[in-house]
Amino acid sequence: MSAKFIIPKPDMFSAKRVLCIQPHYDDNDIAAGGTIAALADAGVEVIYLTVTDDLVGVIDDNLTEEEAAALLKRDQAEAGACIGVSAQYWLGYPDAGKYDYHDVRRDIIRYIRMLRPDFILTIDPFLPYEAHQDHVLTGKAVSEATILYGMMRLKTDTQVDAAYEGHEIAGIAYYHTHAPNTYIDITATHARKHAAVGAYHAQFSDEDMAMLQYALDMKEQEYGERQGCQYAEPLKILHTRHLHCSTDAVIS
Ligand SMILES: [Zn+2]
Repeated sequence: MSAKFIIPKPDMFSAKRVLCIQPHYDDNDIAAGGTIAALADAGVEVIYLTVTDDLVGVIDDNLTEEEAAALLKRDQAEAGACIGVSAQYWLGYPDAGKYDYHDVRRDIIRYIRMLRPDFILTIDPFLPYEAHQDHVLTGKAVSEATILYGMMRLKTDTQVDAAYEGHEIAGIAYYHTHAPNTYIDITATHARKHAAVGAYHAQFSDEDMAMLQYALDMKEQEYGERQGCQYAEPLKILHTRHLHCSTDAVIS
């Protein structure tokens, strides 16, 4: 047997501030709302950053962009109150549109320097068969920002960069992952998660929402069985050192 150097999996629940970065308004809550509510209950400050304007997902074609944007923000605020989100920020890139990876990465680094989170939660960009470019681009930009945010030759905003004094990010947690290494017991926060998901009226018909809630519930029960509880959410949690040239990340 050869000795193995294993980087320990960081503990998200010992974080002080988790920045939850999502492509669309509802991704955090649909995939990890129970986990995020449990973090908030444990005294962790949770902040959301949404990369796109999410306008393509609004089902009422008769609304103006301003009306649709107002509805999305209303829904997200209602959901955030259920989960315990302390602040919401938006980058406003065009949903399912053309925008630049490096611009998104720069903006994410700017928010990391401004908000100084010690843990990141985001979407897994390495999910096989994921076709939505907003999901892939956001997850990749967040992952790279998480290893580059301390490199001050990468410029963001002059004032933000000048004020930034450096800090540590302990780890990154991915949802919508095909390779979970952690199952979070969300039994205590399951109802609040589903209330939050139910707040996204602008993007789901009543019928589609009922199907979504049912499908989520089935998966949460399936993951709960693996964890030995009623409901759970799966995550892939990695140390930031796993995000570059690590052959262990895939098995961690
Ligand atoms: Zn999405």
